Amino acid sequence: MNIVLLGAPGAGKGTQAVRIAEKYGLVHISTGDIFRANIKDNTPIGQVAKSYIDAGKLVPDEVTCEIVRQRLEKKDVSAGYVLDGFPRNLIQAHELDKFASIDVCLDIDVDEALLLERICGRRVCSCGASYHISTLNGKDTCAKCGGKLYAREDDNPETVKARLATYNIQTAPLISYYGAQNKLKTVMCGTKTPDEVFAAVCGLLG
Ligand code: ADP
Ligand code: ZN
Repeated sequence: MNIVLLGAPGAGKGTQAVRIAEKYGLVHISTGDIFRANIKDNTPIGQVAKSYIDAGKLVPDEVTCEIVRQRLEKKDVSAGYVLDGFPRNLIQAHELDKFASIDVCLDIDVDEALLLERICGRRVCSCGASYHISTLNGKDTCAKCGGKLYAREDDNPETVKARLATYNIQTAPLISYYGAQNKLKTVMCGTKTPDEVFAAVCGLLG
């Protein structure tokens, strides 16, 4: 099963992607994670991506599509994958249809008012775990690996507003794109807890 996860920044795509991948034996592919790893290693891709990410804009399609195309050529994706953060506009969606066959698009629906609060309170660990300050009780270490938690550089109010605008203009049209292909499944309860959202996701995926 090949899944595309749609949802605004802060909708919980990453959190759900990890769980879906585990339960259904799929590979989790996050373009955001790939870019952040490249920025950390200061690769040519990282150098290009950084300015776009800091501005809340999309990294150019040629770069992004090529990364995903190469990733999907690896053997480990044969059992299926969850794409988290790709495609993010219609060009990427058309491109993806040339080299992949998507079975289902899960759209996690969350009120915009909540997104800002969620992202600005987000703390992450280098192991991939993600938390919200409201449940950390002042702790700053990862419950999974003991690593030090930090805020992502693009999780500041200014960049978040730009990311939300980018989502509304460029990514939201993908909901109709996958709807027209009869692949769309909408998770209506995106504002609920991760466990509740995951239960709904499993209900939709069967
Ligand atoms: P979020 O969904 O919370 O915004 P991501 O980790 O998915 O976080 O993405 C972070 C940033 O990485 C985006 O704001 C964008 O700049 C860049 N990015 C991620 N995926 C793509 C993509 N498919 N196309 C272009 N840019 C991307
Ligand atoms: Zn950790």
